[in-house]
Parts: sequence; structure tokens; C-alpha cells
Amino acid sequence: MKLAALACAFGKHSLDTDKLGRIHGLRVGRCRHCAAPMEETAPQVWEVQRVPDAGLGRRYNL
Ligand SMILES: [Zn+2]
Repeated sequence: MKLAALACAFGKHSLDTDKLGRIHGLRVGRCRHCAAPMEETAPQVWEVQRVPDAGLGRRYNL
């Protein structure tokens, strides 16, 4: 779905309600289009999880 992928690019992900899970009491899920991990930060409020070391600026230099 090209339109769906475009929505993802703008941060409007589509939660896959068939694959909800639970971690540390938080409800978690994934976007059905791009598989971005999402979490319920408040009732009915789903946000993409912030991943540590996402690659912007911080890197391990050997
Ligand atoms: Zn997405």
C-alpha cells in the first residue's frame, strides 16, 4: 500500500491490533505497514517507541 507507506513517513502509523503485546504493563504493538514498534503511552494514545541509539549523531567509534 503506497499510500499507507506515505502515511508512515509522516508519522501516521497504523497499529496492527492483531499483534498487541504487553511489556512491563505497557501495551505495545507494531505498525501494520512498516513494522515500527509502538506503545500505548496513555489510554487510546499510541506512539512510536523511541529507540535508543537510532543512528542520529551517536555512534560507537572504535
Ligand atoms: Zn508505519
